[in-house]
Formats: sequence, C-alpha cells, structure tokens
Amino acid sequence: MRVPEVTSPDCECSEGVMTVEHVLMKYLKWSAEREELITPLRMTSIKKVLTSKEGGRAAIKMIQRTKILDQFKALVEQKEGRTAESRKEENEKSEEEIE
Ligand SMILES: [Zn+2]
Repeated sequence: MRVPEVTSPDCECSEGVMTVEHVLMKYLKWSAEREELITPLRMTSIKKVLTSKEGGRAAIKMIQRTKILDQFKALVEQKEGRTAESRKEENEKSEEEIE
C-alpha cells in the first residue's frame, strides 16, 4: 500500500504537520476510530501497521471512514489552486508513474 506523503500545517492538535502517520496514530479527532481499528492490533509504529495484513486492512477502513484522502486532496488543491479538471488529468498521468 502506498502512503500519500501530503502534509498540511493545519493539524488541530498542534503537533506540527498533518501526515498520514499522525492522523492514523495520533490525531485526537479520530481517536474513537483508532481505538476500534488500530489499537487492538497492539502495533506502535505506522510501518508495522501498514506492512501487516491486519494493519493494512484497519488503516484502509479508517481512511475510508474518516475520508482522510478526500481531505488531503482538498488541501492540496487549495494550496496549489488546482481545479477538479486539472486534478483528473494529473491523476491519469501519475497512475502510470506508480511503481
Ligand atoms: Zn494532530
């Protein structure tokens, strides 16, 4: 699974930048989802979570529930002033580049 490396300075719990790791492991707003999906795995690092089958599944569920990807997309668009149309073109291009 590929982890988006998009960051934003806007995280509400003022621990610095908002990364996927921060959101999955620490973000206060989603602690309920984390306790249900991530905490039972007893994994302390994001790498362990994302490289294990159960962890990967839990991370995907959490991402789907919290709509984190939509939020990251929106943040990038806001920052770079992109339109939905230019994003679509770029997504088509970048899919070819994914290893
Ligand atoms: Zn935070």
